[in-house]
Amino acid sequence: MHKFVYDFAEGNKDLKDLLGGKGANLAEMTNLGLPVPAGFTITTEACQQYLADGSHPDGLGAELDEHLAGLESTMGRRLGDPADPLLVSVRSGAKFSMPGMMETVLNVGLNDESVAGLAAQARNGQAGNEDNDRFAWDSYRRLIQMFGKTVCDVPGGEFEEELHRAKQAKGVKDDVQLDAEDLRALVTAYKKVFSKHVGHEFPQDPRQQLDLAIEAVFRSWNADRAVLYRRQERIPADLGTAVNVVAMVFGNLGPDSGTGVAFTRDPATGETGIYGDYLQNAQGEDVVAGIRNTLPLADLEKIDKKSYDELLTIMATLEGHYHDLCDIEFTIERGKLWMLQTRVGKRTAAAAFTIAAQLVDEGMIDLDEALTRVSGAQLAQLMFPRFDMSGEPAPITRGVGASPGAAFGEVVFTARRAVELAAEDRAVILVRRETNPDDLPGMIAAQGILTSRGGKTSHAAVVARGMGKTCVCGADQMEVGSDQFSVDGHVVREGDVVSIDGTTGRVYLGEVPVRPSEVVQYFEGDLDPALANEPLVAAVHLLMTHADERRRLRVRTNADTGTDAARARRFGAQGVGLCRTEHMFLGDRRELVERLILARAERERSEALAALQPLQRADFLEIFREMNGLPVTVRLIDPPLHEFLPSLEDLAVQVAVAKERGEQAERDERMLAAVRRMHEQNPMLGLRGVRLGLVIPGLFGMQVRAIAEAAVALAREGGHPRPEIMVPLVGAVQELETVRTEAEKIIAEVVGDSGVEVLIGTMIEVPRAALTAGQIAEAAEFFSFGTNDLTQMGWGFSRDDVEGAFFWRYLELGIFGISPFESIDRDGVGRLVRIAAEEGRATRPRLKLGVCGEHGGDPESVHFFHEVGLDYVSCSPFRVPVARLEAGRAAI
Ligand code: ADP
Ligand code: MG
Ligand code: MG
Repeated sequence: MHKFVYDFAEGNKDLKDLLGGKGANLAEMTNLGLPVPAGFTITTEACQQYLADGSHPDGLGAELDEHLAGLESTMGRRLGDPADPLLVSVRSGAKFSMPGMMETVLNVGLNDESVAGLAAQARNGQAGNEDNDRFAWDSYRRLIQMFGKTVCDVPGGEFEEELHRAKQAKGVKDDVQLDAEDLRALVTAYKKVFSKHVGHEFPQDPRQQLDLAIEAVFRSWNADRAVLYRRQERIPADLGTAVNVVAMVFGNLGPDSGTGVAFTRDPATGETGIYGDYLQNAQGEDVVAGIRNTLPLADLEKIDKKSYDELLTIMATLEGHYHDLCDIEFTIERGKLWMLQTRVGKRTAAAAFTIAAQLVDEGMIDLDEALTRVSGAQLAQLMFPRFDMSGEPAPITRGVGASPGAAFGEVVFTARRAVELAAEDRAVILVRRETNPDDLPGMIAAQGILTSRGGKTSHAAVVARGMGKTCVCGADQMEVGSDQFSVDGHVVREGDVVSIDGTTGRVYLGEVPVRPSEVVQYFEGDLDPALANEPLVAAVHLLMTHADERRRLRVRTNADTGTDAARARRFGAQGVGLCRTEHMFLGDRRELVERLILARAERERSEALAALQPLQRADFLEIFREMNGLPVTVRLIDPPLHEFLPSLEDLAVQVAVAKERGEQAERDERMLAAVRRMHEQNPMLGLRGVRLGLVIPGLFGMQVRAIAEAAVALAREGGHPRPEIMVPLVGAVQELETVRTEAEKIIAEVVGDSGVEVLIGTMIEVPRAALTAGQIAEAAEFFSFGTNDLTQMGWGFSRDDVEGAFFWRYLELGIFGISPFESIDRDGVGRLVRIAAEEGRATRPRLKLGVCGEHGGDPESVHFFHEVGLDYVSCSPFRVPVARLEAGRAAI
């Protein structure tokens, strides 16, 4: 037979699935001998069955009777007994804490008769009546209010209005200034509100109150706000909540009673000390509801030293038991302390690191355990500069927080202007409707990027994240023109200052001051010595060192310039996993690329290539130098060439205008013809990657020669270059073999006896490549999974379009919990990776395996790549520490 009800003494903290977090921890505290009011927990399974069938599961009623009888005998009182009532609270409590999302009803068991019994109980051993009557009526009106709202859907505002009216009539401001008579009248008013909305009187039968309250808590699992919260927090929808029935203790019995919350350490910074709030003569939610001003917990020492000391002892016991920061709810009833809740407390990113390191110092946990207490996401948060919000600035609009950080500067509307002003050392924010590869120099020059279109995978977002640059995109309330933008009545012109928050997506007018992150200073190696002993920096150092010791995955970086490579190396990168060469074709070099594309004769083409070659060589040499001794994977040119040409529309207009004026436009016309010829309906599936190399003679050859020459140059300087040439978009081994044959010839020629070794490998980013990896490995010394394209082609999702178009619906329906471009889709795209890794290694056991998509810096994905047995992940410089940490965590 199923067991649906557990006494607190029967449970423990590991039964969260069944008893919910609150119930499991109440049981744990009970078994530790701490002062917990007696009670029992109805399991989440009972809730699941209730929600499925719409009625109590068979057997629950009998078990309830039995446990209630047990509770009554423990307490020596019967539920709602008119002379001496037992009262209980009925509290929700799911496996994962969902603060304030579900319901709790206090004082169940009170009715028109037992209210007098409660007053008598309170009077027991006390002189005077007034306070005790007041207490009883206060408890009763709270029951009607909570029960009405929670169980019977009475609008809570109506009770609050009555309360407000009562205080006004009496000319007082505070609830506690209402006396017994006032509260008795309030009960009458509340009952009227109740029956008006519910259609019958407030139920007087205590057992009926209990049953209805339990059902209401079950149902609160599916309340709108709870559903929404679960979706946001990715808590499964089918867990259900447990229900805790707990004997009431009273913090509203007078000034020697009260209720409070406490943390065993500061959840904001992790510092040890006394943190919490206390409210005298109050019940339950009053503390958090902000009805009256709370006292700092330290003040309790003066009010009730005995309870205070006991509380501190209990907090130490809990920390020693849970080996972690705990938060606590407690109540003092006439000088007697009661524990009502504890759990391992939520904390900020900074506190997570600091506390983990402290607990290691205190010998409570070991370093492995400490690593499990922090996350890459928290580390990433610590690396972004922050706005100082103390001035409480008001945002003018809001977009998608696409790349975190805080940036301010003068608004500019073109990349060129951004570059000009940045050259004068002025901070700028580049504002565009959307960005394209042409904006790159401006994006590099700007402090931050703000667009009115596009989501988290728009060009602006992806590139900004790659650069670790603050970006807010898709601020769609903004009307962006060529020299101003307007939003919500504000007109912002070039030169006006705005501040953007890449975490929240908020946009502010003017300069919001920014604090730099000391964690980044630490990684950069230029930490202000005064900060070296900061607990946070010391904690990051401790945990990063341990992660590096533990991890098996190596971490490389995606870097296209020497500067990026150098920074990534300071951040701990162990090589370059992706150096994109197309960024080297922008700016002034564009003209050379145009010449290459427009070349009519073989001679013109070789001239254009010959002009590009030394430039490329210089780029590579710079990167090889910065990564001296470490591998550098250079990807041969990947994007369709027409991305380097002006747009068809612009050109057509230009040519037409020139003709109209009778001007010569021979070059423009040739260009126009070329653009027309090269136009593709589906450029992402068109002439790009290895296909370019096979179609345009000499292009890949030029790049291979530049790479080999740069490597030889570094070797001559006494360095140790380790170049790896990577061919993009391969789908068949024959493609790779063709490129390889040509490349090997050139390499042999250039390298001679310099001792330089060049590896040749391929990206695995076309599904066919993954499925024929066994063959492809014959011609590849390494694979690098291009998981962006692999996701795009695996799902058939255009990464530039889908996110804003319909991903919201997919997320809503739970088709996926997170965009597959953000975190690897383990089942589908991940399976392709797994197959390719296994079959590639079957052909070539020493095949090097890495990943260079955006996923290389995503914590969840890093764990997956560890499991699949890759050798390294590669990510943008700023994600390198995050990947190191997660790779360490994955190995535990
Ligand atoms: P939540 O999960 O929203 O914190 P709780 O179930 O913890 O809700 O209860 C809400 C408030 O009521 C808390 O402040 C708690 O301390 C108080 N409370 C709950 N049960 C009792 C009880 N048996 N005696 C006194 N106060 C209680
Ligand atoms: Mg609580
Ligand atoms: Mg690709």
